[in-house]
Amino acid sequence: MKYKRFFKAIYVALCLAFVATLYAQTYEVGEVYYGRNSYVEYYPGDVALIVTAPHGGDLTPAEIPDRTWGTTVTDSYTKETAIAVRNAVFEATGGYPHIIISNLKRTKLDPNREILEAAQENQWAEQAWTEYHGFINIASDSVESQYGKGFIVDIHGHGHTLQRLELGYLLSATTLMQSDNVVNSYASNSSIRALAENSDLSFADLIRGANSLGALFEEQGISAVPSLFQPDPGDGNPYFSGGYTTQMHGSSLGGNINAVQIEAYRVGLRDTDTNRKKYAEAITAVFDEYFHVHFGWAGIVTGIQEERIASEGFYLVQNYPNPFNPSTTIRYSSQQTSDLSLVIYDISGRMVKTVESANRHIGDYEYVWNGQDNGGITVPTGIYFAKLQSPTHSQVIKMHFLK
Ligand SMILES: [Zn+2]
Repeated sequence: MKYKRFFKAIYVALCLAFVATLYAQTYEVGEVYYGRNSYVEYYPGDVALIVTAPHGGDLTPAEIPDRTWGTTVTDSYTKETAIAVRNAVFEATGGYPHIIISNLKRTKLDPNREILEAAQENQWAEQAWTEYHGFINIASDSVESQYGKGFIVDIHGHGHTLQRLELGYLLSATTLMQSDNVVNSYASNSSIRALAENSDLSFADLIRGANSLGALFEEQGISAVPSLFQPDPGDGNPYFSGGYTTQMHGSSLGGNINAVQIEAYRVGLRDTDTNRKKYAEAITAVFDEYFHVHFGWAGIVTGIQEERIASEGFYLVQNYPNPFNPSTTIRYSSQQTSDLSLVIYDISGRMVKTVESANRHIGDYEYVWNGQDNGGITVPTGIYFAKLQSPTHSQVIKMHFLK
C-alpha cells in the first residue's frame, strides 16, 4: 500500500494540472470519457474487474513523431477485444467492468512502458501516457473502495507459433521452470501478491493449480500457460511474463488490486467479431469462477449483491451461464429469515416453473434450472424471467435459453 501510494504521489506531483482535472471529475457507469484528442478512453465500471488495452490503437497524429527506439509492433484487435469483454460481462452479470484503452498506434505511444520509453519526450504522448495510467488509478481506487480488492486484465496479442494464452504474473519462464517449492518463494514479486497473501492455497496452486486462471481458461477450451497441464512455457519457447502495467498497477508494490497480462494468439480468439465474442465470454466465465473461488464471492457481481442485500434482505444473483443450454444456475442470498418464492416466467408473463416457495434462513441458496416447465417439458428458445419474491420486495433477472 505505502509503496503504491508513494509512486502514485511522485507521478501526480511530476505531472501537470490535467491529472488533477482527471481526479476532479465524476465518472458515471455506462458513459465513456476521453483524454485529450481522444488518444485515451475510459469506460467506468461497477464490478471488480479492470480491463486495459495498450497496444491496439491506430491513431497516428502528426503532432507526435514516431518513436525511435523500443518495440512498435501493434496487437491487432485488442481494443475490440476489450470492448467485447465489456459487453460479455454486462450480458452475463448486468455489471460493467472498467475499461481503459489507448487509441494511439504503438509507433506513437507505448503505455505499457515507463514514460521515457513510452512517450520519448514528446509532450502530447506524455500527456496521453499520464491520462492512461491516471484512468487505471481512478478505476483501481473505485474498485478498491467499493470491493476492497479486484483484478486488472491487461489485454495483448502475440504472434508466437504456439497457439496458447501466455499469462504474465511477473514471473520469468526460468522461474516457472522451477519446482512448486521454489515458485512459492516468488509470491511477493508477483502481480497477484495480495491474493497470495490472503489465500489458503500455495502460490504455485494459484498460478498453475486446478483453479488457476490458466486451468480455468483450459476448461473453456483455450490452451494457456502457466496452467495445471502446462505448468511452464517449456524449454526455449517464447513467453511474455508481464510488463509495466502489471508491475505498476498489480499488487507486487502493495495494494489489493491484482493483475495479469494476457497475451492471446490471433486466429480463433482475436481475428473476427464472432471469435472475439467467444473469447470475451470465456474471459467472463473464467473471472466469474475465479472471483467465486479465490475472493469468496458469488461471482463477478457480488459487490452489488451485498448492497442489495443490505436494503432488501435478499438478493437474486444473475444466472450463470447466460445464455444457457441445457441448464443454468440461479443463486440467491438471504440475510434474514423470510418467506421467499422463486418462480420462472416466459416473456409473455406466463408462469413456466414454480421453483420453490419456502421459509428461508440466512444463507446462500442455489437452484439449477434445466429449461423444463412444471410439466417436465423443455421450453422453447427465448427469454425467461426468474422472480424472487419476499412479502415486501421482489427482484427479477432475465435469462436467455438457447437450443
Ligand atoms: Zn502488447
